[in-house]
Amino acid sequence: MLELLLIIVALAGLVWVMRREAGALPALGVLAVLGLIGVVFGAVTAGILLWLGAAAVAACGLPTLRRRWLTPRLFAAFDKAAPKVSETERTALEAGSVAWDGELFSGRPQWQRLLDFRNAGLSEEERAFVDHQCSVAAGMCNAWEIARERADLPPELWEYLKREGFFGMIIPKRYGGLEFSAKAQSAVLQKLAVNETLMVTVGVPNSLGPGELLLKYGTEEQKNHYLPRLADGREIPCFGLTGPRAGSDATSLPDVGIVCRGQHNGQEVLGLKLTFEKRWITLAPIATVVGLAFRMFDPDGLLGDTSDLGITCALIPRDTPGMDIGRRHHPIGSPFMNGPIRGKDVFIPLEWIIGGPDMAGQGWRMLVECLSVGRCITLPSGASGIGRYAVGWAGGFTRIRRQFNLPVADMEGVQEPLARIAAHAYIAQAAVMQTANTIDHGVKPAVPSAILKSQLTEFQRSMLADAMDVHGGRTVTLGPRNYLGIAYSANPVSITVEGANIMTRNLMIFGQGAIRCHPYVLDELAAKDDNDLAAFDKAIFGHAGMVFGNAARAFTQGLGIGKSRVPFDEVAAPYAQEVSRLASAFGLCADAAMASLGSGLKKREMLSARLGDVLSNLYLASMLIKQWHESESVEHEAALMHYSCRTLLYRAEQAFMELFDNLPNRALAMTLSAVALPLGRRWHKPQDRFTRDIARAISTDSALRHKLTADTWNTQEAGQRDNPLARYNALLADSERAEPLYRRIAKAYSQGELPAEALHPEQRVEAAWEAGLIEEDDAIFMRRFEREVLDMLSVDDFAFDAFATDKDRVVWHTT
Ligand SMILES: Cc1cc2nc3c(=O)[nH]c(=O)nc-3n(C[C@H](O)[C@H](O)[C@H](O)COP(=O)(O)OP(=O)(O)OC[C@H]3O[C@@H](n4cnc5c(N)ncnc54)[C@H](O)[C@@H]3O)c2cc1C
Repeated sequence: MLELLLIIVALAGLVWVMRREAGALPALGVLAVLGLIGVVFGAVTAGILLWLGAAAVAACGLPTLRRRWLTPRLFAAFDKAAPKVSETERTALEAGSVAWDGELFSGRPQWQRLLDFRNAGLSEEERAFVDHQCSVAAGMCNAWEIARERADLPPELWEYLKREGFFGMIIPKRYGGLEFSAKAQSAVLQKLAVNETLMVTVGVPNSLGPGELLLKYGTEEQKNHYLPRLADGREIPCFGLTGPRAGSDATSLPDVGIVCRGQHNGQEVLGLKLTFEKRWITLAPIATVVGLAFRMFDPDGLLGDTSDLGITCALIPRDTPGMDIGRRHHPIGSPFMNGPIRGKDVFIPLEWIIGGPDMAGQGWRMLVECLSVGRCITLPSGASGIGRYAVGWAGGFTRIRRQFNLPVADMEGVQEPLARIAAHAYIAQAAVMQTANTIDHGVKPAVPSAILKSQLTEFQRSMLADAMDVHGGRTVTLGPRNYLGIAYSANPVSITVEGANIMTRNLMIFGQGAIRCHPYVLDELAAKDDNDLAAFDKAIFGHAGMVFGNAARAFTQGLGIGKSRVPFDEVAAPYAQEVSRLASAFGLCADAAMASLGSGLKKREMLSARLGDVLSNLYLASMLIKQWHESESVEHEAALMHYSCRTLLYRAEQAFMELFDNLPNRALAMTLSAVALPLGRRWHKPQDRFTRDIARAISTDSALRHKLTADTWNTQEAGQRDNPLARYNALLADSERAEPLYRRIAKAYSQGELPAEALHPEQRVEAAWEAGLIEEDDAIFMRRFEREVLDMLSVDDFAFDAFATDKDRVVWHTT
């Protein structure tokens, strides 16, 4: 009996030590002491077994012993198995910094570290800009006019954007820019997302491109010349990386710059002869200055011994002889400025290299470093912004659209997509604003930028599709009244640019995270490259402690034992505990996958994607929990919080399940499944009661609807374009009065109290008033209400030949 008891206590003690990653010494102590107790009190077999265990722990765990025999062997094995990291990959891995993503990777996230990124909100100046300038800009847009009639923004809008400094949000004030925080940039883009052409046009110059590259790497002369001109729109920039032969694999670009002598301003200078072909370059057709990435060669050794200097970025004015620029591509749905740029033997002086000749060959590093911030802001903000409008439009339309005598918003089939839209919008808002907040604290989030870009643009795809579905034919029919259809058709742009989503999900998130965010892998690789045994020993045994720790935490917490302590209220705390538990499971599985597949994991993209999905969902859930913690919740928001967290945890567990189903080493897969999720999956799709609650809230004049649609263009000023969101808001404010009147009239009609031929709602209102069923002021109210409803339900029609660009080829059929 004592023997069994000792073994059980020893196991419990070891798990306790492992959970805390307390190291070999406490484990040794537990085994030695229990062994002694066994030997002294007659449980000799157990005592000896425990001492043998203690000896094994000492040999493998105590640094002085293990360094003699174990570490060199592990080093040799690691050297063989570790993936080769190419120069391009190393640059990508070293770019940016690690914050909450690293906490998740450790398997033991310290929530206080996340809360330490305090959110001070927007400054007064930023708030005023979002409230005023963004409303004015949005109020100049009509999607149909921009997409189909002009294929451009209106000239007065271009003028306004330049005058108010929209293109200089990231440029410091000393150069004439707005110098906005990342949060403010995001808030601006979210509001401008009412029109995708407007959002892209403002987003791109403030994202990866000449402005950001100059700020970080430009020479003083380049900054002084260009930044003030970029800030006030005298210069319009574009950045050309992509070409017909180099898309996702951008470093394979075949565009070249050959060092040579040439004429510049009447003098012979050292420079570059550029030959290039770029395509899909945003703003290129109207750009005045082109940022260009090319491979730089010095075959005649004019600069030194190196012939292949590598990828380099230069700034080239539009009117440089040999540049072929100005033609347009036609991006699907949205006519933002986008086109090809070509050049043959275009001579530029070396001074036009961004950062000057010293930065020759540093182009890829520069681009990747800038990408970590820009990619967190532009497209994720666009997605979050579209989400706000999707909530407003879909909630509004489904309340006023009545079928079968009911608002369609009250039908469960419609409530499902409505709740999904709300949850996606809610998660996106939290993720984008909280990540922007970390940027304002100095973080350069490389892995979160890939998570946000791919996950939130996928949310955008889902929100737009759901919003289209619940609108029925209303938004299928294009024309000036359609506020949604063009945004829907433009969605693939967001999916594809700044790292196409398939590649980002399958390759980047886990591939980059596994090395960049992992607490030990980068140190192990560095120790291997430096042949540093002591550093390797420290990293690899720290790593081993983490693996045991993650296994112990995931297993015990999976059984409901020893939940982690989290600083949240009763709504958020259970979800935070689950994020912690699944982070331990994730850490364990990530290490197991890397150890079992080695460099082969790079090619097993479907496995990498699932690990990336776990990380992504845990990251998004964490942002949501922080947002909840920091903001005042409103009525029905708890339902949305439950729905959203459950969805994310469900998705994380789903990714685990698919990983276990597909890991090639089946024994490992089963062991991982038993340790990481010992009781199987815990999370299921959110319950219908949440769905009903959320759908009702976003389709009525509720506090939750107002919160989700905050910071949108929701006013209707004189002279502005028609604002459907403002009109829906006004209708919803009235619908509480309208609803009982509808019910009374419908009941009277069904009971035969109104004439059978009163088929139109308007006729029934008149009939009800005449029959004395409703008061006169109710009749007046309903006449106005119905007029507005009908107008919002109406769609456009056009002349028979309106869409034919070649009128001569129109067949009139009836003539
Ligand atoms: C409207 C628009 C605007 C743009 N603006 C600019 C700009 O201003 N400047 C600029 O330089 N570029 C710009 N681009 C280019 C854009 O960044 C590229 O389109 C993008 O990088 C993807 O390249 P690709 O389209 O050639 O796709 P491809 O590289 O041909 O990829 C095709 C598919 O294969 C997938 N794929 C590729 N490699 C992998 C992998 N290893 N693992 C898994 N899947 C993979 C991709 O995800 C994609 O789904 C723009 C593109 C568009 C369409």
